Amino acid sequence: MDTLAHVTIGTIACSRSGLAGGTRGAVNAEGKPVYFWSDWTFWTAAGFALIPDLSSFGAFIIQRIISGNFVPGKPELDTLPEYVFFNYNLTYSLVIAAGVGFLLWFFARPIVIPFISWPLHILCDIPVHSRDYFPTPFLYPLSDYTIDGISFGGNPWVIYTYWSIILILFSTVVLMRGGIRLKLNGGLDTESSG
Ligand SMILES: [Zn+2]
Repeated sequence: MDTLAHVTIGTIACSRSGLAGGTRGAVNAEGKPVYFWSDWTFWTAAGFALIPDLSSFGAFIIQRIISGNFVPGKPELDTLPEYVFFNYNLTYSLVIAAGVGFLLWFFARPIVIPFISWPLHILCDIPVHSRDYFPTPFLYPLSDYTIDGISFGGNPWVIYTYWSIILILFSTVVLMRGGIRLKLNGGLDTESSG
């Protein structure tokens, strides 16, 4: 799945500005509604959603840009440095993510909901990566078993499908919040006459 899709799904599902905010949405310390850019859970969820891509391919792309030999497109497996595979295994493992989640639960509980955008990234990638190119090592280091999914890279319909789902989720949040605001304003009538 493309990185933008991961960040969008992560913030929609795991931030207070998104579905995790329920009908109330993101609020400040005084309990007043705030926009997503003032919602720390939005940025935390976005950050966790980025971890798997940033630490593997992201780091490699940044390295290539800095060294001045950036090549767009999918890099061949034998051109990739060892750390890409190492970080990929670590950050695409549900076992590792569960360990981190467990620690956060005890030491930083408010972060746990935004953190879920990381394992969500892994879950979303399992069906859209094939064994030909970076299947998701979701059981690492317990097992190297992977699922042979349908690669989103070679199948545009896969990309259209998940972006359609994202659009539905996004509309759900917008409608949910819009409904609440109407109710708070006492309905459309009050709004137009006031
Ligand atoms: Zn990914």
